[in-house]
Amino acid sequence: MPANTPSIKPIKAFNDNYIWAIIEPLTGQVIVVDPGQAEPVIEFLQDHNYQLTAIWITHKHFDHVGGVQALQDAYPDVQVVAHANHGVAQTDAVSEGSEFVAFNLPVPVSVPVPISVKVWQVAGHTEHHLAYLLRVAGENQNTQLHVFCGDTLFSGGCGRVFTGDMSAMYNSLQRLKNLDSSNIDGGLLIADKDIFFYPAHEYTASNLKFGLHIEADNEAMSKHLAKVQRLNEQGQASLPSSLALEKQMNVFLRTDKASVVESVLEKADNSANHEQARNKQATSHTEEHIFAMLRQLKDDF
Ligand SMILES: [Zn+2]
Repeated sequence: MPANTPSIKPIKAFNDNYIWAIIEPLTGQVIVVDPGQAEPVIEFLQDHNYQLTAIWITHKHFDHVGGVQALQDAYPDVQVVAHANHGVAQTDAVSEGSEFVAFNLPVPVSVPVPISVKVWQVAGHTEHHLAYLLRVAGENQNTQLHVFCGDTLFSGGCGRVFTGDMSAMYNSLQRLKNLDSSNIDGGLLIADKDIFFYPAHEYTASNLKFGLHIEADNEAMSKHLAKVQRLNEQGQASLPSSLALEKQMNVFLRTDKASVVESVLEKADNSANHEQARNKQATSHTEEHIFAMLRQLKDDF
């Protein structure tokens, strides 16, 4: 592995939250994403003799920011990267398009390829929800992208749309789905198998059950559900997930597939809430409209 490749580990919090820890192996510096609780983070740092260097926040919900103040009290020099509207005392305000370099590596350790981070606003779950896109060199000189996407994309699913802005959520997910054709790496495209998502919750199994409710014949879903259930029984995370896998089995990224469109229209038609679905002509529905109906079906599932 190249010297600057960080390792990324989940710290469990609450019932099903993950606080992702990004660990720089040469210095033991650690970045944590969305520390909803301080205690499990402090314990993790002390157990491994790591040094907390930064906190990144995706959005304002308590289970993502609840531990920030206590961590700032315990580690007064910690950098806190957040949107100005996330309700934390950030040291570095970021928003759509912000870029920065992860870790403060001393000069002798400093490596030729800096670990660069891009910030995207992916609204819908909340108005100012951010995703952090961490670009590192992979094992074969390929570029890997690690995406800390909070409650926007889950493995096999997506977050609730608390803003009510289905259009924003749809566009955010489409943006994540199209990361392999986005100009992230200075003009070079990153393969979907090298793009990894780190959502903040272990919701994969329940998402896949809903996915199979929509697409009963999707083998990628049923196969992955069996694997996730085994992992969960062993107390292990089903994450991260790759974009390649999500394209196959995340129903919210599959609203362009005929199997999903037909099933959504049929199921929405059976539900009193979905007047628009009465017209069963799939062609008259935009993909965004199918997405909105699908999200509503998940809320009611
Ligand atoms: Zn949330």
